[in-house]
Amino acid sequence: MCRQVFLSYYMTAASSNYKLASRKEHPADLVLDLGDGLKVGGKEHVVIAGPCAVEDEASLRELAQILSEAGIKILRGGAFKPRTSPYSFQGLGEEGLKILRRVADEFEMRVITEVIDISKLELVEKYADILQIGSRNMQNFELLKAVGKSSKPVLLKRSVSATLDEFLSSAEYILLAGNQQVMLCERGIRTFEQSARNTLDINAIPLLKKMTYLPVFVDPSHATGDASLVPAVSKASLAAGADGLMIEVHAHPEKAKSDGEQSMLPEDFLKLKEELEKVNK
Ligand code: PEP
Ligand code: MN
Repeated sequence: MCRQVFLSYYMTAASSNYKLASRKEHPADLVLDLGDGLKVGGKEHVVIAGPCAVEDEASLRELAQILSEAGIKILRGGAFKPRTSPYSFQGLGEEGLKILRRVADEFEMRVITEVIDISKLELVEKYADILQIGSRNMQNFELLKAVGKSSKPVLLKRSVSATLDEFLSSAEYILLAGNQQVMLCERGIRTFEQSARNTLDINAIPLLKKMTYLPVFVDPSHATGDASLVPAVSKASLAAGADGLMIEVHAHPEKAKSDGEQSMLPEDFLKLKEELEKVNK
């Protein structure tokens, strides 16, 4: 089979799993309007930043002030944390959501936070502007159907072991249930390489941009697991065509309750934010 024929066969076969998410059905990029001039998927890239988890109100406020002054409009922070070990910090739950909402409102920021379970969806929807589906839940189909009925935008993260076809099929569940506000997030996959926490699938960025019209984010923090790698990987992601980044920042990474090693110091983040302005989408 010649390459062209093979490629078109492959794209046709694959896209039958994700008709609604396919670029074929929807040639124009989805530009999500999050209000007050904030658009995702348009000409400007969007940077989401914040701690891995909400730990306490004072430290989140201090960090949010720095981030907001740097032009960050979407604050991240987990209140319900999906942790590998049951002994690890599981998040502050509803108290974390309340803190996140209060702090974000003070600085006129949007809130993105993870929904880990259908039973918590209504609660998270009460406080969040954007619902995050974590990599571990990418194929939790009932949860996907449930957020598909929500009126809030959804950021769907790729599982460490999902193919792009599987990733887009998961996005399809959300679209099919009626929610058209879907953003994708590549956050590193598991490969034989052990030097970093995960391996960023840089190919996924231009491939997804071809396969779908949905905005594509990259999470360089989870992709690398190492704050010192985040600047290079962030720039590479934007250069490869990502619509945005989601970056973990913590004022005292050595004391963070989760993901300290990959959390950038605020001063390093500010430097990176400036450098990113120079990288075209
Ligand atoms: C997160 O962003 O908080 C997170 C848990 O990431 P992931 O689902 O990609 O592991
Ligand atoms: Mn994290």
